Amino acid sequence: MSGWLAVAGLGPGADALITPEVQAALAEATDVVGYIPYVARIAPRPGLTLHPSDNRVELDRARDALRMVAEGRRVVVVSSGDPGVFAMASAVFEALEPCPEWHGLDIRVLPGITAMLAAAAAAGAPLGHDFCAINLSDNLKPLDTVLRRVRLAAEADFAMAFYNPRSRARPEGFGRVLEVLRACCEPGRLMIFARAVSTPEQALRILPLSEVTEDMADMRTVVIVGSSRTRQVGRFTYTPRSA
Ligand code: SAH
Repeated sequence: MSGWLAVAGLGPGADALITPEVQAALAEATDVVGYIPYVARIAPRPGLTLHPSDNRVELDRARDALRMVAEGRRVVVVSSGDPGVFAMASAVFEALEPCPEWHGLDIRVLPGITAMLAAAAAAGAPLGHDFCAINLSDNLKPLDTVLRRVRLAAEADFAMAFYNPRSRARPEGFGRVLEVLRACCEPGRLMIFARAVSTPEQALRILPLSEVTEDMADMRTVVIVGSSRTRQVGRFTYTPRSA
C-alpha cells in the first residue's frame, strides 16, 4: 500500500473545530507526528502509532515523517490551528526541498481554523477589514525585524494579530512591541487578549492600548490590535468594512 502525508491543523482547541477532512485523515492514519501537546489531543487506537516530539525540532520531525511516508506509512503531521500559519507545513516543504527522491510523494496540506480567526469570532469581527498576522517570536528572525513589521503595519493602519506574543525565554520582546504601538497609535486603540480560545480556559480581555501591560500576554494568547477604525458595539468589537 502506498504511503501518504497529511499536514493537518487541529484548530484552536475544541474538537468541534476540527474539520471533517482532518478527522478522516486521522481515522486512516498509521502514524501521527507532532509537538507533544498536539499529539496528546489524538485518541490512541490499535494500529495507530503516536510520535510526540519536543517543540524545537520541527525539521527533524518533518524529515522523520517524510521517511515514514516513503516506507509506505500513512502519516498525519499535526499542528494546532492551521498548519500553514507559523507551523509545520512550511517545515515539511523545507525538509522536502533538498530531497528530490521524495518530491513525488503523496502530500496534502489540510487547513484548520487558525487562532486569530477563532479569537476574532469570539470578540466579534475585529479582523473585518484589512489585517496582517505577525509572529512575535524571535526564534527564527531578529527582534528588529519584528519591530519593523509592527511599526509599518501600524503606520499602514492594518489591524494585526500577534502569535507567540511572549514567552518565559524572551519576556522583554512584547514590551518593545508595545513601545512601538504607543509611538504609532492613539492611546484609545483597542487591543484584544484572547487566551486558550475555544477551550474551557478561554479568557477574552478587551482594553485600550493605554491600559495594556506586558504581562497580559503569554504563549497561549493571541493578541489582536484593532485598526484606528475598530470600535465596540455592546459586548462586541468590530472593524467596519470601509476604511
Ligand atoms: N498554527 C497555529 C499557530 C502556532 S503558533 C494556528 O494556526 O493557530 C502558537 C501561537 O498560536 C500561540 O503562542 C498563540 O499565540 C496562538 N494560539 C494557538 N492556539 C491558541 C488558542 N487556542 N488561543 C489563543 N491563542 C492560540
